[in-house]
Amino acid sequence: MTLDIQNIRGEFPVLHQEVNGKPLIYLDNAATTQKPSAVLEALSAYYTQDNSNIHRGAHTLADRATRSYEKTRAMVREFLNAKEEEEIIFTKGTTEGINLVAATYGRKFLQEGDEIIISTLEHHSNIVPWQLLCEEKGAILRVIPINDQGELLMEEYDKMLSSKTKIVSVVHASNALGTINPVREIIEKAHKVGAKVLLDGAQSSAHLDIDVQALDCDFFVMSAHKLYGPTGLGILYGKREILEAMPPYQGGGEMIKEVTFEKTTFNDIPFKFEAGTPNIADVIAFQKALEFINAIGKPAIRAHEEELMAYAEEKLAQIKGFIPVGTADQKVSVISFLINGMHPFDIGMMLDANGIAVRTGHHCTQPLMGRFNIEGTVRASFSVYNTKEEVDRLCESISKIAKLKN
Ligand code: PLP
Repeated sequence: MTLDIQNIRGEFPVLHQEVNGKPLIYLDNAATTQKPSAVLEALSAYYTQDNSNIHRGAHTLADRATRSYEKTRAMVREFLNAKEEEEIIFTKGTTEGINLVAATYGRKFLQEGDEIIISTLEHHSNIVPWQLLCEEKGAILRVIPINDQGELLMEEYDKMLSSKTKIVSVVHASNALGTINPVREIIEKAHKVGAKVLLDGAQSSAHLDIDVQALDCDFFVMSAHKLYGPTGLGILYGKREILEAMPPYQGGGEMIKEVTFEKTTFNDIPFKFEAGTPNIADVIAFQKALEFINAIGKPAIRAHEEELMAYAEEKLAQIKGFIPVGTADQKVSVISFLINGMHPFDIGMMLDANGIAVRTGHHCTQPLMGRFNIEGTVRASFSVYNTKEEVDRLCESISKIAKLKN
């Protein structure tokens, strides 16, 4: 299926502007994606027509807002192919989802000497919560190493697994290099030793079809803003029996059944984990982002992005001084690179002068950068609305920049 990219681009107002006198080329999609008009209109429609607090109201607006909020939950269930809507919890983002699991499941079920396995590819959001937990519990953090292509050394993972392993928390697709991890194998092996598995789906969810039942992961976390949706909203999926066994994360409104000064009875899932007035407008607007993705379909999105990435990689490889970082066989549409003799930040600034938005730096993966003995990279990440012409302009600009030192 060939996508009508110009038509798709028409849905994204932000793309139609000049930056530094040049048409904007937005290649920072791994950091956050742009939002289609339908999402922006849904935000405005909610505040102009339905604004009300949810679940507790006896009036029409509250009823409308509640139904719409819960409709998003149903759509997310479908998006992830979770068994039940109750297994979908709204959070602030991927980071909060991981912190929630570490602070509730981790605190309740981990003991001194237990082990948590992560990988060298992790975002800080999937390192620091586990470090905090390890410090509190006297647990041990173990890290799966990678090869020079940026792929996990699975034989090292095999050696790490034991009855002491309680949690395996790995990134599904790396934000810094694009590597797609063999998560089915990781999950199967972890389950054999009785460990629970969390998948950080912040990047994978935008590119790959996600089926949490087929994957059999225990937790899956993602962020709406990387899925053409609003900021400040994330999803935590957890298997029902695990979520039910976990203590609450925060206390307050909505997460209770009954409160007395002597004792509080907690609400059922998912509400047990949604204390306080949630991010109602963004949850509701997220429906439009999911509709946008569903209308195109992930396989078509991925095929387009892969075509762009392959085209870019071929052109970039011909540039003298171009150094790719992370060349895994299985990747999402991320190209991380260096140019011989140049600082990534300077490259980013020169690209910006040409209207090209990329990310530079450590991408919140400092230990991973350390593994390659570098401080950071330049990262171009593609989305469904990017075009071959944009890739051409990126490659032309990089070629000119590289010539300054090569
Ligand atoms: N994990 C990965 C792989 C990411 O790419 C990101 C964001 O860049 C995060 C976690 C954190 O996501 P958020 O900042 O939306 O919580």
